[in-house]
Amino acid sequence: MGHWCRICGRSKPNKKFSGKGHKNHICKECSRKPKTERDEIDHIEEIFNYIHQSNISKKNIKRLEKLVCSQNQEIAELANIVLEVALIKPHKKKRIKFLAKTNRELLSKLEETGLIMANY
Ligand SMILES: [Zn+2]
Repeated sequence: MGHWCRICGRSKPNKKFSGKGHKNHICKECSRKPKTERDEIDHIEEIFNYIHQSNISKKNIKRLEKLVCSQNQEIAELANIVLEVALIKPHKKKRIKFLAKTNRELLSKLEETGLIMANY
């Protein structure tokens, strides 16, 4: 039985994970990467998860406000878009239709960044 690494996104044999890495889903190879690099992958995934949740909670919004201040430009930009969406329409239901009517610019930003699929 292998184990999945959330950083490189691959399934690897158990021996490729240390005890701690196993728990955190990070393989030995990825655990040697600089923290900033691991954080970048983690944070981007986190932001993508928010947009796919049925609701972006107040707690999530607080977290996004932090991510907007990230030193990493890509993370800051993605967080900014999702934060904007969360403040306008935290619930996923009918969000796309709503944005299509009221905020096309934001909708196209979502599509351009791949946060949502164009034919969602
Ligand atoms: Zn890995």
